[in-house]
Amino acid sequence: MSILIEPVTNVQGIGESKKSDLESLGILTVGDLLEYLPFRYDDNKLKSLPEIEHDEKATIEGKVHSEPSLRHFPRKKSRLSVRVLVGEKFLITAVFFNRAFLKNQITPGQTVTLKGKWDKHKMTLNASDIHFGPYQSDQSIEPVYPLRGEIYMKSLRKMIQQAFQQYGQLIPEVLPESLSMRYKLMKRGEALYRMHFPSSFDVLKMARRTLVYEELLLFQLKMQLFKKINREMSQGKSLNLSKEKTQAFISSLPFTLTEAQARVVGEILKDLQSPYRMNRLLQGDVGSGKTAVGAVALYAAVTAGKQGALMVPTEILAEQHFQSLEKMFAPFGIRTELLTSSVKGKKRKEILQSLSEGEISVMIGTHALIQDEVNFKDLGLVITDEQHRFGVNQRRVLREKGSFPDVLFMTATPIPRTLAISAFGDMDVSTIDVMPAGRKTIKTHWAKHDMLSRILEFVRKELKKGRQAYVICPLIEESEKIDVQNAIDVHAQLSMYFGENASVGLMHGRLHPSEKEQVMRQFAENESQILVSTTVVEVGVNVPNATVMIIYDADRFGLSQLHQLRGRVGRGSEQSYCILIADPKSEEGQERMTIMTETANGFELSEKDLQLRGPGDFFGSKQSGLPDFKTADLVHDYRVLETARKDAAELVFSEYFWKEDQYTPLRVHLEAAGVFQNDRLD
Ligand code: ADP
Ligand code: MG
Repeated sequence: MSILIEPVTNVQGIGESKKSDLESLGILTVGDLLEYLPFRYDDNKLKSLPEIEHDEKATIEGKVHSEPSLRHFPRKKSRLSVRVLVGEKFLITAVFFNRAFLKNQITPGQTVTLKGKWDKHKMTLNASDIHFGPYQSDQSIEPVYPLRGEIYMKSLRKMIQQAFQQYGQLIPEVLPESLSMRYKLMKRGEALYRMHFPSSFDVLKMARRTLVYEELLLFQLKMQLFKKINREMSQGKSLNLSKEKTQAFISSLPFTLTEAQARVVGEILKDLQSPYRMNRLLQGDVGSGKTAVGAVALYAAVTAGKQGALMVPTEILAEQHFQSLEKMFAPFGIRTELLTSSVKGKKRKEILQSLSEGEISVMIGTHALIQDEVNFKDLGLVITDEQHRFGVNQRRVLREKGSFPDVLFMTATPIPRTLAISAFGDMDVSTIDVMPAGRKTIKTHWAKHDMLSRILEFVRKELKKGRQAYVICPLIEESEKIDVQNAIDVHAQLSMYFGENASVGLMHGRLHPSEKEQVMRQFAENESQILVSTTVVEVGVNVPNATVMIIYDADRFGLSQLHQLRGRVGRGSEQSYCILIADPKSEEGQERMTIMTETANGFELSEKDLQLRGPGDFFGSKQSGLPDFKTADLVHDYRVLETARKDAAELVFSEYFWKEDQYTPLRVHLEAAGVFQNDRLD
C-alpha cells in the first residue's frame, strides 16, 4: 500500500497538539495533508502606491520610518501603527489591529513587505500581513486554504512544505503513463506540489489540469465499471424481435424518421436484442419526435412476443399518448390500453385481467402502472416519458415490474452533456439532436409589462386567424409577498378583454384531475381559444393549433423551463410566437431574457442555464446525484470530462486493464471507491 496513509505525525514538527488541529480539518494521514488544497489563489504582485485604488487589497514594500506606537483598548484589543516610507517619496501609516506582539519585531530602518487594504484618503494601509524583508517574487501568488480552529496559514504551509520534503518523491503516479504522456501532464507529485507552491499562474494551471484530469478519469472509470459490472450481473433477456415487421411499422408512420430518430432507434433495437438489460436515457428537444421512437421500440418488443409499458407523469399526457399510439398500433392488430386513476370499476378490472393474461400488448398510463395490483404477463420493455418528473423510487419500482424488463427513460429537458455524463454516467445516453424538417422557428420576443395592450391586440389578430393562445402565470392566487400576476386574476382580465370573441380556459394545480382534463380537452378541441395556466401545462401536451405562448413574469422561470413552455407552440405548420413579459432588475435576469430570444436550441439553452445557475441548481435539489469534486468543476471542465470519459471507456475495455498488477495505484483508488464490490447492483 501507499506510504501516504502513514499518520500525519510522521511529518517532522507535527506533534500531538498540531495533530488534533489538523484533525479538525479532516487531515489524518500524510496523504491528506499533501492533498489539502487551497480553494483560492490571491494575486500578490508587488504594486507601487499610485497604482493602487482606494479600498483595494494590495502588497507593497517599504522601509520602517519610526518606532511603532501601540494603543490598548478594553477587552485586549489593540492598535499598532507605524510610519513606513514607500518608494522615495510616500510616507504612509501601516495599522495592525490586535497584533501587539509585532511591536518588538518592528524596528526603524528595516525593509518590510506589507499586505492589506489601502485607504487612499488617509494614506493608511490596514495591514493583514507583514513579512520582514524585501518582497520575494515567489510570493506573488498566495494560496488561500480553508481553515478553521487554531491553525494559521503560515504554520499549515510550513507543515505541507515539510511533508513534501520527506514524502514528495514517494507520491505514486495514478495515471497510466500513456495518458499522462498523451496530454503532457505533470507527475502527480509535482502537480500537488505546484498546487501549494505555484511559481506562476501558468504553472498553476498546468498543475490543476493534471489533477482535474486525474479526478475525472477516476470518476469515469468508476461509472463505467459500475455499468460494466451491472451489465454482466443483471439478468437481461435477448428479445427475439422481428426486424421486417419493425421496418414495416416504421414505414407505416405518416413521416420518415429523421436521421437522428433512425440512429436512436438503431441503438435501442440493438439493446433490446442484446442479452444485457437496457438502461438507456433518451433525450431530445421538445418536438424532436421522441414519441415516435418510443412507439417503434414498443412495437419491436411486441413483435418479440413481449408486452410494453409507457409511463408518463400526468393524465393528460397519458391520454394524448394513448390516442396517438393506439392509432399507430391498431392497424397491426395490437391492443393498446390506458390506465390512470380515473379508469375505475368494471373497466379497470377488465383491463387488469387482460393485462395479466397477455391480451393487452401495450399499456399506457400514469404512476397507476406501478401499483401492486398491476401485473403483466410478460413485460419486456418499460418506457418512462419526461423521466425527470418521476422520483428515483418510482423508476426503481418500474424496473422491478415483471422479470427484468429493458428500460428506456425519455426526457425533453435537455440535460447538458456534462451533467448527463455525470449524473447518468452509469446509463447509456441516446440523443435526438435534429428536429424534423419543415419546422418553423418560434419567434420569441421579450416585452415589458407596459406593453400589455399591444400584446393583447396581437393575440386578438391571431385568434381572428383561427389560432389559439396559451397564457402562463407563475402563481395561482394573488400573494401579498410576491407581486406577480396570478392565473386567476389574469383569467378574469382576459375574459373581460376578449368578451364574446373568445372563450378563456383556466388551469392550475389545485384543480381536480378530472377538471384539469376537461379544461385541457376543451382547449385541445378548440372549444376554448385561450388557456390561462400555471406551469402544469408544461409537460408534453400537444395542441398544434396553438400558435401563441405568452409568459407573465418570465424572469421567474429558469431557461430550461421557459424552453419547455415555449415548446407547447410551434407544433403545427403555422408560424408561432412566444412573448416573454418581464421587467427583470438584475443583470442576470435581463441576460436570461435575451438568451431566450436568441436561442431556439434546447441543448444550447441548458448549457447556458447551467453556466448561469450552476449544476446544483439545475436539477433543483441536492438529490441530483452529482458527485462532489475536489478540483474539477463541471461547468468549466466539461471538455476534460468528455475526454476522460472516452479514455475511461478505452481503459475498461482493454485487456490490459484487467490483468493483475496493471496500473496498481489506479486500482487501489478504484478499490477504495468500492467499484469491485458486487453489492452495487440495484
Ligand atoms: P417530443 O420529442 O417533444 O415528445 P413528439 O414525439 O410529440 O415530440 O413529436 C412532435 C411532433 O412531431 C408530433 O406531431 C409528431 O407527429 C411529429 N414528428 C415526429 N417525428 C417526425 C418526423 N420524423 N418528421 C415529421 N414530423 C415528425
Ligand atoms: Mg413527448
